[in-house]
Amino acid sequence: MLAGDAAHNVHPLAGQGLNLGLADADLLAQALHAREYWRSLGDEKLLRRYERARKADVLAVGWTTDGLQQLFAQPAEPWSWVRNWGMRGFDRSGPIKHWVARQAMGRAQNL
Ligand SMILES: Cc1cc2nc3c(=O)[nH]c(=O)nc-3n(C[C@H](O)[C@H](O)[C@H](O)COP(=O)(O)OP(=O)(O)OC[C@H]3O[C@@H](n4cnc5c(N)ncnc54)[C@H](O)[C@@H]3O)c2cc1C
Repeated sequence: MLAGDAAHNVHPLAGQGLNLGLADADLLAQALHAREYWRSLGDEKLLRRYERARKADVLAVGWTTDGLQQLFAQPAEPWSWVRNWGMRGFDRSGPIKHWVARQAMGRAQNL
């Protein structure tokens, strides 16, 4: 069972590695605390619950970061236009920007 960068290494451009690690620690603590009395701390089913609980979050950050990295790696002119258009649109998106920021800060999980 792994957590933090040992479990998932995302590109630093996301600025999300620490947040992901803290969310790992939080959900692992919750899973261990809520375990049935007869399960040991190393119980495989218990640790799979933790892995499943973290999967969607980790995948979403990984895909988003990879997508942004690919987008910003394109040198051709049309791509810089797409990047600028997207960044400006996102900056003005109000509630969407707020929602994404809350997700990134781990606020969606009440950390
Ligand atoms: C340039 C850069 C910018 C970043 N910016 C952000 C940001 O803005 N926001 C954000 O959320 N994240 C950011 N991150 C990512 C964040 O720093 C990491 O995701 C986070 O530190 C991972 O924490 P960790 O405890 O899993 O691993 P680490 O912080 O790497 O801790 C692992 C520890 O284990 C020790 N260790 C390793 N091997 C052994 C061993 N065999 N025995 C004993 N000890 C060992 C290491 O010395 C280290 O102290 C950034 C990363 C980089 C590189």
